[in-house]
Amino acid sequence: MVVGAGFAGLAAALRCAKQGHDVLLLERGDTVGGALGRVSRDGFTWDAGPDRTLLPAVVRDLFRKTGRPLERELELVPLDVLREHRFADGSTLRLAAGRSGALRSVDALAPGLGRAWVDHVAGHIPTWEALRPLLEHPAPTGGPSAEAAAVLAGRTHLERALRRGLPDPRLRTLAAHPFVLDGHHPRDVPAWAGLVSYLEQTLGTWVVPGGLAALGERLALRLDLRGVEVRTGTRVTDVRVERGPAGGPGGRVVGVRTDQGDADADVVVVATDPRALPGLADGLPGLRRTLPALPPRVVHLGLDGADTLDAETVLHPRQPGRRGREGDPLLVVRPGGSAPEGASAWTVLVRGALLEDLPTALARRGLDVRDRVRTTLDRSPAELVTAWHGSPLGTAWAGRRTRRTPVRAADAGGPEGLLVVGAHAAALPGLPFAGLTAAVAAELVGRAERA
Ligand SMILES: Cc1cc2nc3c(=O)[nH]c(=O)nc-3n(C[C@H](O)[C@H](O)[C@H](O)COP(=O)(O)OP(=O)(O)OC[C@H]3O[C@@H](n4cnc5c(N)ncnc54)[C@H](O)[C@@H]3O)c2cc1C
Repeated sequence: MVVGAGFAGLAAALRCAKQGHDVLLLERGDTVGGALGRVSRDGFTWDAGPDRTLLPAVVRDLFRKTGRPLERELELVPLDVLREHRFADGSTLRLAAGRSGALRSVDALAPGLGRAWVDHVAGHIPTWEALRPLLEHPAPTGGPSAEAAAVLAGRTHLERALRRGLPDPRLRTLAAHPFVLDGHHPRDVPAWAGLVSYLEQTLGTWVVPGGLAALGERLALRLDLRGVEVRTGTRVTDVRVERGPAGGPGGRVVGVRTDQGDADADVVVVATDPRALPGLADGLPGLRRTLPALPPRVVHLGLDGADTLDAETVLHPRQPGRRGREGDPLLVVRPGGSAPEGASAWTVLVRGALLEDLPTALARRGLDVRDRVRTTLDRSPAELVTAWHGSPLGTAWAGRRTRRTPVRAADAGGPEGLLVVGAHAAALPGLPFAGLTAAVAAELVGRAERA
């Protein structure tokens, strides 16, 4: 049984079904896909949440292992320009993909910075090599390798590592950006997490023409093919656990409780926020000390006229916040939504307080679309959490010891047969890491034994 049909739940359900298991997928919403979906208004359509992904191999592996290969169903295209950063001092960086692209584009900021950036990025290779087995496969019974254990025990936080390793404040802003956008302070994030820069720079950022939501739609179509039974409109309220004779911690999962009644299962894969299920949260005390990372405000804009942006554009705050006073928000403009002829569609992610209307804020930061706005769909963080029944951004970093729920809950004293996947179990942010937890869960579940 799988709880929650976001990207991770879909991946776990399809993988387990392909391995021969009878899978029941329970989803609280009316549709599947979670944050991976579309919103539309007045002829415009935007990706509601993710519109790009790192590590395309995760998506390719999922498609290959659950049906036809990705290339037969969807086009996944690498971006030449990863992002355009407009920094507080007025300088601009169009960060190109690949090592030579990075060298050239970052050097345009100031001679020598390109070398500093590519060296910084390459410095993450040993970290990635050490942690990769832990992200891709179940934790070995003897614990992680010595290299992985040493990386995870590191005491340095990302802010300090960047201060030591990068000579220019703009490069530090660049390296911290994915975490700041997700609502974390770099002081709360462990230094090893900075390997995201390496993955992005070396393996690229990938998009699906027409919107990443197509990925969720394709996976949804496979549910039927793989014989997954789907019940939408079903809210799981708790996991049911049979305790041992002593009634102590641990025990074994026997199913879930839902607003439609109980359902039995030998294995339960939870692909939602585990904090919301008391039987799970009570069994994992470390979980109670964590909080979810909240989404940014998301504003979808339908604009008259052809698109004037050809890459995601990051407008860094010009006025940083001071004690008791809000600074500028971080604004991330994602072009590329679908629009009627002669129009264009942007999504703006707003991190921080926006004390004026968005077109005015954009105009002050050099993107003036005030006379082009045809339609606006403005979704607050609270509205998004309500629509998605939780936060798709997973656990908020609150220092290097922040505990993520292990995929196999029993590894942290939880019940046998209970697996936790998705954003809240993933070590790093974003779809591919949520997808990797589903691959790990499927490996733990293994092939069904058929009589
Ligand atoms: C604005 C925004 C932009 C993003 N952009 C990117 C990006 O460009 N690239 C990227 O890689 N990542 C991005 N992310 C992160 C990405 O969305 C997540 O990594 C991913 O969606 C996590 O998938 P998930 O399946 O773990 O969770 P979700 O997508 O949140 O799915 C959880 C599912 O569980 C269901 N559910 C919840 N509670 C219950 C319950 N009690 N019973 C039954 N069902 C339940 C929900 O309805 C939902 O369908 C973005 C996130 C946000 C918020």
